Amino acid sequence: MSELNVVSISEAKLPAEPFVARHLIDGDWCQSADGATFERVSPSHGSLVTVAARGGAGDVDAAVSAARRAFDKGNWSQTSGKDRATLLLKVADLIDRDRERIALLETLESGKPISQALAEIEGAADIWRYAASLARTMHGESHNSLGSDFLGLVLKEPIGVVSIITPWNFPFLIVSQKLPFALAAGCTAVIKPSEMTPATTVILGELLLEAGLPAGVANIVLGYGDPVGAAMTTDKRVDMVTFTGSTAVGKAIVKAAGDTLKKVSLELGGKNPQVIFPDADLESAVDAVAFGVYFNAGECCNSGSRIIVHEDIAEEFLKRTVDLSRKVPFGDPLDTSTKVGAIITPEHQNKIDSYVRDASKTGASVRLGGEPLSVPGLTGQFYQPTVIANVESHMPIAREEVFGPVLSVLTFKTLEEAIALVNDADYGLSAGVWSENVHTCLEFARKAQAGTVWTNTWMDGFAELPFGGVKESGQGRELGKYGLDEFLEAKTVTMRIGRTREPWVS
Ligand code: NAD
Repeated sequence: MSELNVVSISEAKLPAEPFVARHLIDGDWCQSADGATFERVSPSHGSLVTVAARGGAGDVDAAVSAARRAFDKGNWSQTSGKDRATLLLKVADLIDRDRERIALLETLESGKPISQALAEIEGAADIWRYAASLARTMHGESHNSLGSDFLGLVLKEPIGVVSIITPWNFPFLIVSQKLPFALAAGCTAVIKPSEMTPATTVILGELLLEAGLPAGVANIVLGYGDPVGAAMTTDKRVDMVTFTGSTAVGKAIVKAAGDTLKKVSLELGGKNPQVIFPDADLESAVDAVAFGVYFNAGECCNSGSRIIVHEDIAEEFLKRTVDLSRKVPFGDPLDTSTKVGAIITPEHQNKIDSYVRDASKTGASVRLGGEPLSVPGLTGQFYQPTVIANVESHMPIAREEVFGPVLSVLTFKTLEEAIALVNDADYGLSAGVWSENVHTCLEFARKAQAGTVWTNTWMDGFAELPFGGVKESGQGRELGKYGLDEFLEAKTVTMRIGRTREPWVS
């Protein structure tokens, strides 16, 4: 489509050979016990990117045994914070060293633009450094005001063996929002990346070994949700599951983990609203809306896919958004100018398309896009930037995750109505407000049901600030000191001072 900004195939070279990914179990790289493998083909270029070991229950059993042994042995869980921090910092340096290699595989497996993959890897290194600072500074509590004959201590201890299960949309970043905090706490881990994006987690495993992490502390099992992920959530020797992915799988994990009462922390989906008031800086708001919905092709838990705009400025907002959307460079993820790459699978592309068709059949109007996008020279699947107006709150496109570059626009008249629309959702991950009035922003921040509220900005994240959802967007938090706390248990030690106790039986 000539009226869109389409980037055709770039000069960048594809690797000559596929990446070979194996499990990491007890410090050794191994194939599956039954020798099974699976392949990942690039969603943009159609080329074979990765051949990976396809794990089964036996491989999970071996990995959990190794993680359990390593934890119980104590050569990681009982090391000093200083030693753990030193290792985490080394890993961060190695990530920086290998960022180009990691980013290329991330791009080829996921279809995201190479510039964004590089930024993601840099962000991940920063999180490893932040987690190192927590490893050295974490501490419990002392209670010295329980009376003259008591001292109370609250010790923070690592929770134990952690199963880490991650999705395909930010593979390296998301494992880096979990593993360094688990390691900082002193836990050991079994990690399963998505079957769509195994390579970069395997490279992380290589870097962990190079940095000197003892065998068995971090294990990686590759493969599908069933049987690998399922076995990681039911094994009695696992103390906690931390999962990022869809709400449907998150609910299945809660049920599976219930039999052994494991702790479960969940980072799930979102249908994130941005509310735009008439006094907003419209130019900045429109730019943030484009970023919020097209970043990572909308395959983003934080996608700002639900815009709630005041009816007085709705038409102007729509016109500006459509104009800006036409300028966003969609196309070959290996071209450094591309801002939006490929859709993860043909099946997912069909799902995006069916949401758009359904919306248009039920009264919404497609102002831009609404079709697959063909990119000259590439065989993969791409979707046009899509803006849909006249959306109503009951429509699936306003309530469900489309996970594509598709914007739904609703309108409101009053602040109360806007808040009611924001909260009329099963999800509660993030919400945003655009207004030059601080009172409007604060009232919104207090009333929006969401784990994160952005005012006059969208999707800024920091290692220091916790991230997570309410309602069906999840439970628990990642990042910040809360991210470390998830992997710690509190143990109370109550100490009597002197022999002052009156006998219970005299
Ligand atoms: P998904 O739920 O299909 O898969 C996620 C992971 O779970 C994969 O590794 C998969 O193999 C595994 N899995 C599948 N079935 C399982 C089972 N029964 N038991 C254990 N593991 C199982 O999600 P996806 O399609 O990979 O990722 C997209 C979803 O992730 C979206 O809903 C998105 O919103 C969500 N997400 C949330 C956040 C957040 O921080 N809140 C971040 C990124 C993605």
